[in-house]
Amino acid sequence: MHELSLCESILQILEEESRRQAFSRVKRVRLEIGRLSGADPEAMRFGFDAVCRGSLAEGAELEILRLPGLAWCLPCGRQVEVEQRFDACPHCGSYQLQVVGGDQMQIKDLEVE
Ligand SMILES: [Zn+2]
Repeated sequence: MHELSLCESILQILEEESRRQAFSRVKRVRLEIGRLSGADPEAMRFGFDAVCRGSLAEGAELEILRLPGLAWCLPCGRQVEVEQRFDACPHCGSYQLQVVGGDQMQIKDLEVE
């Protein structure tokens, strides 16, 4: 499962942060997931619980913020919102879109103690 390795890298970041900021437990993680990132929020939640078992983030709450997919439409000459990669432009129906945002996943902030 693709999400499991994503969760493992999140845990790695948490462990690095805990050394840097000297905290021992993570209570909550706010994670931004772009619509075009290919990561499924439910699978992320499931994977996060599994990966964090026995770690500093065991039992931590994973809050997921969905970011819209953003693309630049060439014919329209403006930025549009898309649900999925390779969607047509919602305004002109063109497929000449270039993804400019919402294709990433990142930790927004942490609640620690
Ligand atoms: Zn367009």
